[in-house]
Amino acid sequence: MTYISSLNTFSIVFLAALSLMVALRLWLAQRQISHVLAHRTAVPPRFAGRIELPAHQKAADYTVARTRFGRISLVVEIVVLLGLTFGGALQALHDFWVTQTEGLIYGLALIFSTMAVSGLIDLPLSLYRQFVIEEKFGFNRMTFKLFLTDLVKQTALGIVIGAPVILAVLWLMAQMGALWWIDVWLFWCGFNLLILFIYPTWIAPIFNKFAPLDDVPLKARIEALLQRCGFATSGLFVMDGSKRSSHGNAYFTGFGKTKRIVFFDTLLGRLQPTEVEAVLAHELGHFKHRHVIKRIVLLFALSLGFLAALGQLIEAPWFFKGLGVIAQNTTLALILFSLVAPVFAFMLTPLMSLLSRRHEFEADRYAAEHASADDLVHALVKLYEDNASTLTPDPVHSLFYDSHPPAALRIARLQEA
Ligand SMILES: [Zn+2]
Repeated sequence: MTYISSLNTFSIVFLAALSLMVALRLWLAQRQISHVLAHRTAVPPRFAGRIELPAHQKAADYTVARTRFGRISLVVEIVVLLGLTFGGALQALHDFWVTQTEGLIYGLALIFSTMAVSGLIDLPLSLYRQFVIEEKFGFNRMTFKLFLTDLVKQTALGIVIGAPVILAVLWLMAQMGALWWIDVWLFWCGFNLLILFIYPTWIAPIFNKFAPLDDVPLKARIEALLQRCGFATSGLFVMDGSKRSSHGNAYFTGFGKTKRIVFFDTLLGRLQPTEVEAVLAHELGHFKHRHVIKRIVLLFALSLGFLAALGQLIEAPWFFKGLGVIAQNTTLALILFSLVAPVFAFMLTPLMSLLSRRHEFEADRYAAEHASADDLVHALVKLYEDNASTLTPDPVHSLFYDSHPPAALRIARLQEA
């Protein structure tokens, strides 16, 4: 209990923010569950005749199952957070590594072992999510073997990319003087941009196969749309998303001339060519409105703010003591900060969601102008049904979390267009 004796004002501030976050998340989850269950008995009028009652009820049950599971994940997350800080686990890892190694290697070992601990605790949750919940609702297409292969690949990739990045950050923190956080920020932005560039050609193919789209009529339709919208791409690809899940999607990756459009095979299997065109027009809307760039700029600005905060905290003994850690060094500061910052940043969630929903409306409007709004509505209804997305989310839960507007509202806007 030596760690507890170090509690200070910051401990109280942090525990208050943590309690507030937990209470909010549990309250929102409860609202969502009650609201969805209360509307389970009937398909909402706007969707009558388009979605059958069994599909509506499946969506309700799936939403409730995932929300209930989210509460369990929340409990685990809090136990890990408190165990690492006040529970003394991080201090114990430090005590171990500090006798084994030093300098940058000590930092790397401490960061990787902390990640390994939380990763291992997370593993049963991921297994349950994939092989119990997704399985029960018929979405899981993954074998246990594929799950393990993915895990090994992700871990290897995390080490290959993560180790040099962590070493570079720790080195900058140690060498660049009081304003190190500006150098780390520049490095971090550069690294993220690099990943965005290499992701489509180097990283994504480690996990999926990408084949050029060979459906000739569909391709002609899409190329006509791209021409109309004045959009250049280096290729249209189909990804074998079906090997993991039956959820469908379409997305853009890359920048400038390396831009690619990727369709999940599950999406193409389900939508008519006109509907695929409408979905793609929506994605083009995101691009034309520069949503990706705006989001990147916002995230970079936020990370500058967070790093500036860390720049202040790193020298403050109360920050370490307040979180139950007795030792004090840059690596510990980095880890503690990455553990507690999300608790404070949680309050930004509704703002980020609001921005995202605004972008979705803009992209829908663009799609309605450059393709058919009706086709987009048809595609969305199919996607809501296939993904078992609830049509009746709790309005407060939706305001807080949803990156996409509720189905009814979105379709109403499209039908007005
Ligand atoms: Zn969108």
